[in-house]
Amino acid sequence: MNKRSVVAGNWKMNLNSLEANDLVQDLLSLKHHSARVILGVPYVYISSLARLTNGTNIEIAAQNCHHKEKGAYTGEISVNMLKSIGTDYVILGHSERREYFGEDEALILEKMQMAHQAGLKVIYCCGEPLSVREAGEQNDYVEQQLRNSLLKLDKEQMQNTIIAYEPIWAIGTGKTASADQAQDMHKHIRQLVNNQFSAEMAEETSILYGGSVKPANANELFAKADVDGGLVGGASLKAELFGPIIEAIIE
Ligand code: PEP
Repeated sequence: MNKRSVVAGNWKMNLNSLEANDLVQDLLSLKHHSARVILGVPYVYISSLARLTNGTNIEIAAQNCHHKEKGAYTGEISVNMLKSIGTDYVILGHSERREYFGEDEALILEKMQMAHQAGLKVIYCCGEPLSVREAGEQNDYVEQQLRNSLLKLDKEQMQNTIIAYEPIWAIGTGKTASADQAQDMHKHIRQLVNNQFSAEMAEETSILYGGSVKPANANELFAKADVDGGLVGGASLKAELFGPIIEAIIE
């Protein structure tokens, strides 16, 4: 495990309050306390789970935030609200937000800047659809995503950002990018961070792979030089699946 290593879970719109609490209790009772773990949980559980995990290796992420500071935006949640209840991170740019809620790179950049302004850290997601992968244009596609948002951050904002490469064709489909496909893209992304910021920034930035990570493939993926861990959807909902994935980062 190196200092970039992180395993993050994205619960999406799953689990009731009791189930959420039980899952976190199970994760806290695992032996591997040294791994950095981030849980992307529904807004309504953040407060109680932030208290429960305070002082442990588990940090809490929101799965979204609004891009304005405050105001007449019925039903929305601001970054300052999130910060005030103990949120550490916010996941932004997830392909489900892009697809179902029409979020584009410009909005994602606004949200990232708002989050950083409030002192939240960000997990920024990028990744190509299947048609782009089949055309062999994935590097250019992801580069364009980054150029329109992530690479516009300032140095301090970038220092507080984790990147998650999540090929859309691998999310929730059971199809995983091969460890070599993940490594190739992560290397490309790290090079872009190097070019825009510095070699030191590239060396320090955590780049996670997301897309059907399971106990059976985590070891091979995490063994790659530029794969610093995973952003895990389905398998983060069960301690018996998420536990071994966390263990894979320690080995
Ligand atoms: C995700 O939604 O971020 C994700 C990677 O999901 P899954 O692990 O279920 O493919």
